[in-house]
Amino acid sequence: MVQLKSNNLAITPFSEKLSFPLTKSKISVLQINLGKRCNLACTHCHVEAGPKRTEELSPEVCEQLINLIYRFPQIKIVDLTGGAPEMNYGFKPLVEAARKAGKQVIVRSNLTIYFEKGFEDIPEYCANHQTRIVASLPCYLQNNVDKMRGNGVYDASILALQSLNKLGYGQDPNLIIDLVYNPPIPKSEKFSLTPDQGKLEQDYKMFLQEHFGIVFNNLFTITNLPIGRTKLHLQRSKLYAPYVNFLEANFNAGTVEHLMCRDELSIDYLGNVYDCDFNQMENLPAKLASGETLTVAKLLEAATLDVIDEIQTAPYCYGCTAGCGSSCGGALV
Ligand code: SF4
Ligand code: SF4
Repeated sequence: MVQLKSNNLAITPFSEKLSFPLTKSKISVLQINLGKRCNLACTHCHVEAGPKRTEELSPEVCEQLINLIYRFPQIKIVDLTGGAPEMNYGFKPLVEAARKAGKQVIVRSNLTIYFEKGFEDIPEYCANHQTRIVASLPCYLQNNVDKMRGNGVYDASILALQSLNKLGYGQDPNLIIDLVYNPPIPKSEKFSLTPDQGKLEQDYKMFLQEHFGIVFNNLFTITNLPIGRTKLHLQRSKLYAPYVNFLEANFNAGTVEHLMCRDELSIDYLGNVYDCDFNQMENLPAKLASGETLTVAKLLEAATLDVIDEIQTAPYCYGCTAGCGSSCGGALV
C-alpha cells in the first residue's frame, strides 16, 4: 500500500484506493457558487463565507453562465450555492434564465436570509419560479443549531420553514423543500459516521410536525469534509489526521459510481471550473488531459461540456466515500 505523508497524514492516496481512474460521466448538473457573501458565519462552513466577504459573481461571468445554460440541453439541473446565493450578484438572472430553459433550479438556502433587509421577497420569488429549496437545518433541536450557526438561527429557520409551507412548499409537488443535516465537528477521537439518513429523516419529520406543524420533502445527511473551517477546527484540536484516517478506514467502494463529481461541473464566481464544490473551496481546479485548466468562456468556445476525463481527487474525498457516502444530495447508497 502506498502511503502519503503530508500534514502528518499517513493514508493511501484516494486515486490509488480506487481500482480504476475516477472519470466523468455525461455532465447534467451545473453547480454555481455565486460568491462568499453570507449573512451567517457558521463554524462548519467549508466555504468560509460570512458577512464581511465581498467576493461575488461579475456581470460578465453571469452572462457567460446564462449562455451556457441556454446552449446545453444536457444540463438538467442548475444548482445555486454560495455563501447565501440569494445575496450574491446574479441570483435572480440565473434563476430566471434556467427556469426559462426548462431546467430544475436548486437554491441552497440558509433560510435566515429571508429576514434580512432587502431579501424579504425571496420565499415568494422562489415559489413563483418553482425553485427547489435545499435548506440547512443541522439538527431539529434548537441548542445544536444555535451552537453551530449562531444564536437565533433556529427560531428564524423555523419561521422561514413555516412561511415556505404556507406558500405550498413541502405539499405542492412543484415546490420541493429538502433539509440538510450536518453532524457537529468532532471534539474527540470518538468519531462516528453520519447517522442513517432514512431514520433521521423520520425523526426530523416527526419532531418538526409535532412541535411546529412543519412539513418537508427529504432530509440529506452530509458528512463534514475536513476542509475550510472544519479543517481549521480539527487541526486546532489535533484531530485532523485521526479524522482523515477514520474516513479512510470506512471507505465504501460501493459509493464511488454515485459520487456527485461524476456528472457535475462546479463553477466559481470568477468562472473557473472544478469537479465539485469541495475542490473549488480547496482550489483544486478541473483539468484536461493536457493539464490545462478550464473556464466557462473556454467551455463556450469548445461547444461541449464533456471535456474532462479524470476527476481531481484529494484526501478529503474519503469524506464522500465513508459509510453510506455523502454528496450535496445526501447519502449515496
Ligand atoms: S449559511 Fe452556509 S454559506 Fe453561510 S456561513 Fe453558514 S454554512 Fe457557510
Ligand atoms: S470531494 Fe467528493 S465530490 Fe469532490 S472530487 Fe472528491 S469524491 Fe468527488
